[in-house]
Amino acid sequence: MTRPLRVGIVGAGPAGIYAADLLTKDETLSSCGTSVSIDILDKLPSPYGLVRYGVAPDHPRIKQIQGALHKILDKPEITFYGNVEYGVDLKLEDLRHHYDAVIFATGSDRDRPLDIPGVDLPGSHGAADFVFWYDSHPDVAPSWHVDGTSVAVIGAGNVAVDVARILAKDADDLLSTDITDNVYEGLRAKQITDVHVFARRGIAQCKATPMELRELDKQPGVEVLVYAEDFEMDEGSLRACDESNQVKTNVKVLQNWAIRDERGAERRLHLHFLHSPVEILGEDRVSGIRTERMELTGDGNVKGTGEYVDTEVQAVYRAIGYLGSPLTDLPFDEERGVVPNSEGRVLDLDDRHVDGVYATGWIKRGPVGLIGHTKGDALETVTNLVADREAFTPAAEPDPVAFESLLAERGVEFTTWEGWKRIEAREEELGAERGRKRLKLLTRQEQTSVARQA
Ligand code: NAP
Repeated sequence: MTRPLRVGIVGAGPAGIYAADLLTKDETLSSCGTSVSIDILDKLPSPYGLVRYGVAPDHPRIKQIQGALHKILDKPEITFYGNVEYGVDLKLEDLRHHYDAVIFATGSDRDRPLDIPGVDLPGSHGAADFVFWYDSHPDVAPSWHVDGTSVAVIGAGNVAVDVARILAKDADDLLSTDITDNVYEGLRAKQITDVHVFARRGIAQCKATPMELRELDKQPGVEVLVYAEDFEMDEGSLRACDESNQVKTNVKVLQNWAIRDERGAERRLHLHFLHSPVEILGEDRVSGIRTERMELTGDGNVKGTGEYVDTEVQAVYRAIGYLGSPLTDLPFDEERGVVPNSEGRVLDLDDRHVDGVYATGWIKRGPVGLIGHTKGDALETVTNLVADREAFTPAAEPDPVAFESLLAERGVEFTTWEGWKRIEAREEELGAERGRKRLKLLTRQEQTSVARQA
């Protein structure tokens, strides 16, 4: 190919950005003298996906990944277009007209459904909604009444731990972060004294990572309580401890918590293992949660005992995993919430590779793993894309100017990389005015108008 290989990436989170980075560094392409020209599109005016709108605000170390992602987006081969929604502003046909290949990196943006009675009662929330709210996602209503004195969180993964920590934490301890005023006020108004986390399996099956688990007990004014009767271990659990340092550490942390005296803190974070949610109780709104006591079956799995426990709570947060959303013009695996693919090559209903179409990140393999894990994923997808480059139908209109003209013709109020830098500068300015490091711009409109200032 004498012209640059044109690749469009849908989704400017870590998965899409890592894929772009690998394309710019690909040795197969450079050894045959092929350069690349990549456009990364995102439906939001800003880049960084879950790093900006999923990582908890009190995790600045993880948020720092933005610095590395910024350096990648600064590369001359990469162009960012925000506020461009695939399926609304553009269809697959448009992308294939303008790009030789397209990579979908749209992640997992909704809650896995929990099919139990009472799940739709007011006061029963999906964790994704709550996380988007406390991270000031522009498409989520700014007000959230964080109700109740006693609340439940379902799940034992890192999202459950994030949600439980934010619910238990003093809002003033978040003032050093980039949370917006509406979130600070919402959290400051809360009256929560008890957060009950319910995990359906045992202590050796807790999915949270040790650092995140330990952090629960390091919040000023909060103490973690665990219950000895939940500490059953079977053969499978012992084997899991032997095979994984992470499991061994989690078990040790939890066992240490079980043998210490209560500190009498103002707020309590109760971790209940071997409790599976069976019903959210309440007439007009949540008033409790019913869980079934579970027992281990020898292999680390669980079965019900037929014994039920009711816990009085006024709100329930379901953190049982995320799901990707279907993508226009592509097949979708509803159960797993992914685009069917073979090592990143997107497959049609007959299991044939859709010409020039690829996937990476959570929309490829499901919402599992830490941000760094998307790098290996991107490598597989990019390697296959490069290997296929003689086989896919080339773009009919590869000129980058033509793509930008198409957006303009369709009246898309797109944002650019320079525009994002203006958003960043404004957010830092707003922070400085208030003695804070940074304050996020809340709405899509605010971000777009700052980004598009001439
Ligand atoms: P996750 O790690 O898969 O945890 C989901 C939890 O929900 C598990 O404890 C699971 O229990 C439970 N669950 C699933 N279905 C259930 C049901 N029907 N009833 C009761 N419980 C149910 O998912 P996640 O917490 O959403 O996290 C997604 C990924 O993002 C993970 O890889 C996580 O590490 C990562 N993440 C990382 C950070 C961080 O690094 N700080 C923060 C947030 C997220 P079972 O194990 O029994 O299925």
